[in-house]
Amino acid sequence: MVIWQREILTFLGLFLVVCVIGFFTKLFVPLFFLLTLFLLGRHLYQIHRFEKWLRTGGRSTYPKTTGVWEELYYHVYRIKKNNKRRKKQLSKMVDQFRQSTEALPDAAVVLNASDEIEWANKAAREVLGLKRSDKGQRIPNLIRFPEFIQYLKSKQYDEPVTVPSPVNENVTLAVRIINYGVGLRLLLAQDVTQLKQMERMRKDFVANVSHELRTPLTVIKGYIETLQDFDEGDSPLLTTSLKNMQGQTDRMQHLVDDLLLLAHLETKNKKHEVVNIPTLLKQICNENDATLELGRIQLTLDSDAYLFGEENELRSAFTNLLGNALKYSPEETTVKIRWHQTENALLLDVIDEGEGLSQSDIVRVTERFYRVEAKRTKKINGTGLGLAIVKHVLMRHDAQLIIRSEWGKGSCFQCAFPLKRLRRK
Ligand code: ADP
Repeated sequence: MVIWQREILTFLGLFLVVCVIGFFTKLFVPLFFLLTLFLLGRHLYQIHRFEKWLRTGGRSTYPKTTGVWEELYYHVYRIKKNNKRRKKQLSKMVDQFRQSTEALPDAAVVLNASDEIEWANKAAREVLGLKRSDKGQRIPNLIRFPEFIQYLKSKQYDEPVTVPSPVNENVTLAVRIINYGVGLRLLLAQDVTQLKQMERMRKDFVANVSHELRTPLTVIKGYIETLQDFDEGDSPLLTTSLKNMQGQTDRMQHLVDDLLLLAHLETKNKKHEVVNIPTLLKQICNENDATLELGRIQLTLDSDAYLFGEENELRSAFTNLLGNALKYSPEETTVKIRWHQTENALLLDVIDEGEGLSQSDIVRVTERFYRVEAKRTKKINGTGLGLAIVKHVLMRHDAQLIIRSEWGKGSCFQCAFPLKRLRRK
């Protein structure tokens, strides 16, 4: 403000001088014209200097001047200085971010909406084999595994996809994509080779142990049966002991069989074909009705659809569900089995009128060895592996196990197969 006052006062002073001289010399108009010319010239000169200073980057300190022009120079100089400082801070932050992402052990790649690489860190260059010059390239052209391309296209990035490293097939990578910003995605690839190896070792161990236990179990079972044949009932202790031993070996055999089946489901390659589900269900129901409790099973075939899958796996899953429904409901009640089709799925319902399950148990019953409250199930034989097997079989058929149950009112175990698995006769 002070600067403007001074500027106006200078102008008024000059104007007054022109008026006084003009009054005495009667040359008011030419003098006024000269004053205007002088002021215009001065400002033009300042504008020229100002433009030249800006043109050269305005980097050095501004030229010496006075009045409002000095103020103008000062403000522009200050704005430029602040911008420079902010730019420095920003580039320092970017550098730090770059350094930290370069140091990340996991590969990180930024992709745009067209799947083109915007940026990749050092680990991405090492484990994914990307080069600096690959910037702007489409990632499906560089990482060509079908599982990865399908994952990228699916836009469903909740679960990571496992693929071998393009530079070393002995390295397994878990690749996950995260959406951020507008159309941008961050691809993260983590080396899970050790984890996968441990998982494989665990699976192999369980499969081997179960397999090795089979032979001694069969031998022990054989001896128990022979001893039972010799037992003439003279010693109640011996008879009971042999009966208990037989019960326990049967239980152990079930356990070993279930463990082997689970290991098989985890490792075996899929060999799917068309399965006649109505006939399969009729067979399972007849077998169970004949060997267990006659007339308890009510089978309803509302669909004659066949399914693309593995017959033995499906047989084992359905038998487990039916077996559970019969086991965990009173003998006088009916177990309903229904095969039907809706707009979106092929469904198998196994409905019983047993005690049912609480919500907290529903979420856990498919875990291995989980048995609801030992008190209730201890009298009922079981391994706690049946529903884990069902879940695995359904997973291998892109299907889901839906459990609806109310405590005290029975349960409905529903297998929901996608329509893409539907086949006709
Ligand atoms: P199990 O060999 O014990 O039957 P499962 O994995 O088949 O093992 O089942 C796990 C647990 O789920 C069972 O122990 C039982 O408590 C509960 N369960 C399974 N099916 C039913 C059912 N139809 N009604 C009530 N409870 C059930």
